[in-house]
Amino acid sequence: MIDLHSHTHFSDGDLSPSRLLSRAHERGLEYLAITDHDSVTAFHTLRAERHAHASKDTNPDDSSTTSNASGTILRLPQLSGGLISGVEVSCQWEGLEIHVLGLFVDVDNVALTTMLQQQQQRRRERAAAIDLKLQRNGMTGLGAYLDTLPCDAISRSHVADFLVNQGHSKNKQHAFNKLIGRKGKAYVAAGWCEFADAIATIHEAGGIASLAHPDRYPLSRPRFRRMVEDYCEAGGDAIEVSYSNLNPGSLGHLAELCEKHELWATAGSDFHSPDHHWMDLGKIRMMPAACRHSAIWHHPAWQQHIGKLPAIVSAGGSEGSAISDA
Ligand SMILES: [Zn+2]
Ligand SMILES: [Zn+2]
Repeated sequence: MIDLHSHTHFSDGDLSPSRLLSRAHERGLEYLAITDHDSVTAFHTLRAERHAHASKDTNPDDSSTTSNASGTILRLPQLSGGLISGVEVSCQWEGLEIHVLGLFVDVDNVALTTMLQQQQQRRRERAAAIDLKLQRNGMTGLGAYLDTLPCDAISRSHVADFLVNQGHSKNKQHAFNKLIGRKGKAYVAAGWCEFADAIATIHEAGGIASLAHPDRYPLSRPRFRRMVEDYCEAGGDAIEVSYSNLNPGSLGHLAELCEKHELWATAGSDFHSPDHHWMDLGKIRMMPAACRHSAIWHHPAWQQHIGKLPAIVSAGGSEGSAISDA
C-alpha cells in the first residue's frame, strides 16, 4: 500500500513521526509521505534519528542499518519501500485557502526552507492577532498554550483545541462558528502564498506539485474549473485523485480532470489522528483504471528516486489499477 498524504504533530496531526511510522508499519504500508502543513521537520527528525542509529552500528556492512544523506527518500525498517519527503503548502486563491502538496522535495533546498519559514511566520502572526482578539473578549492564555506544543506550523485547529480545553467552546466546530471562523468574533484572515510561488518553489526543490483533496473546497462547478485551470497555468503537475472519504462519483470526475489537463495522479489518506478511523493510513480507494498511465509511480521523479514500481503494481499485473481497499 501507498499513502502520499499524512500529518504529524509538527503540524495539526496527533502523532509524533516515530508513532506515525509504527502505525504505517501496522497498516502494512510500502511507501509513505509525511506532508505536514508548511513543515518538513518530521523528515529532518526521522533522518537525524536514522543517522544517529546508523552511526552507533558496529557493522558497516549491514545495509539494513546504514543510511544516506538523501533529502527526498529515507529507507526505514518500518516501511518495506521507504519514506518519501513531502509537504502541504497553504496557498490563497480568490480569498480561499487551497492546499498544494509537494512530493519528492529536497528538504535541504534553500528556497523551500525560506518559503516554509515565511509561511510558519505568517501562522505565528495570525495566531498572535487571534490571541489579541480573544483577550479583548476575556479569553486569555492562548500564547502560553501554543508554546507548549511541538508543532512549527500553528493552525486554527490548535486554537480551537485551546478554546475547547478552556471551556470557551463546547467543541471545535463551535469554536470555528462562534469565534475563529470567518463569521467569528476573533476571526483573522490568513495571508498565504500564491499558487505560482508555491509551485515554483516545489519545483526548485526538485518536487512534484499535487493539488490536495480537490473536491473539499467550497467552490461552485464553474469556479472549481477556473481554480484547476489557474493551478495548471501556475505549473501544477498532479492532482490528488484518491483520498479518504471520497465518494465514487468524485473519483471518476477527478480521473477525467487528470486526463483532460494531462496531470499526474496521486493518492493519500490525509491521516491526522488514530481517532479519525475513516481517514486511517492507507485507507484510500483504488486508483481508477483511467489513471493507469498517469499514476505517480510512472513519473520520472519516482523512477529517479525509487527506481521501481510499487510492489502491488508490479505483482498485480493490472498496473495502476489498485493501491488499497478503502
Ligand atoms: Zn489539506
Ligand atoms: Zn493534509
